[in-house]
Amino acid sequence: MKSFCLAVTATLALALSASAQFGSIMNKAKEKITKANETFQPWTAQEEQDIGEAGAAKMVAVFGLVEDPKIVRYVNLVGQAVAQYASRKLPWRFGILDSDIAGAYALPGGYIFITRAALSGMTNEAQLAGALGHEIKHCAERDLEREIRAKKTSAWAMEEANASGKADALASVKADAFVKDLFNTSLSRDKEDGADEQGEQMAEKAGYAAGGLLQFLTAMRDASAKPENKKMFGQMLSTHPSFDSRIAHLKPFVDKAGNSGKTLEARFQAAILN
Ligand SMILES: [Zn+2]
Repeated sequence: MKSFCLAVTATLALALSASAQFGSIMNKAKEKITKANETFQPWTAQEEQDIGEAGAAKMVAVFGLVEDPKIVRYVNLVGQAVAQYASRKLPWRFGILDSDIAGAYALPGGYIFITRAALSGMTNEAQLAGALGHEIKHCAERDLEREIRAKKTSAWAMEEANASGKADALASVKADAFVKDLFNTSLSRDKEDGADEQGEQMAEKAGYAAGGLLQFLTAMRDASAKPENKKMFGQMLSTHPSFDSRIAHLKPFVDKAGNSGKTLEARFQAAILN
């Protein structure tokens, strides 16, 4: 009996010490996460501009730009209207990549791209406003910068370690790494949901009918179901949640919003399709 008691006491003691240890590990992890959030030092405005510019140049070199001045002017007009409601003021610039892959991308410092294929899947201006709004949110809140710097992939670990002097060379190396990560990194679900919600809300504030982004996501879901379009959507689906889950998340926000804004279908068709 005595030895049984001892065994129980010993087991309890072990259990206590294990839970105490586990508790301290949990606390350390919490501390670390809190510290990481507190110590995130965003790139300076200058770094952001340098990295964004070098990254944008790389994207343009790889895909080419649609240079039709009418389309460029139009996409910038819509983008600027939405970006007024972003959480940060940046020198926003919107470009159209000459690519058959449906996509939109946010580089640091206000450089936003949408592809020719993505535009061809839209039928009105509210859809374009919502899609650009999604990217504007990623850019304003530095979503990808936070994600890739927190993950410390090898390239980033090296960059950050070497981040002393040689600003120009570093901006170019960082831009290369950023563009690579842009095509390979999935942001956390809350960042994507936040981009859909805020993209939609910014477009509504700018006067567009509610549900533009939702319509665009639905059109992309339907197009992506066709086997011949697999390549067109592969990259977006590898870095974003499924269209179905994004639609399910966004729909309640749109239903709540009412519908007093404009879709501007005729203006979109005149600018993009003619
Ligand atoms: Zn996104």
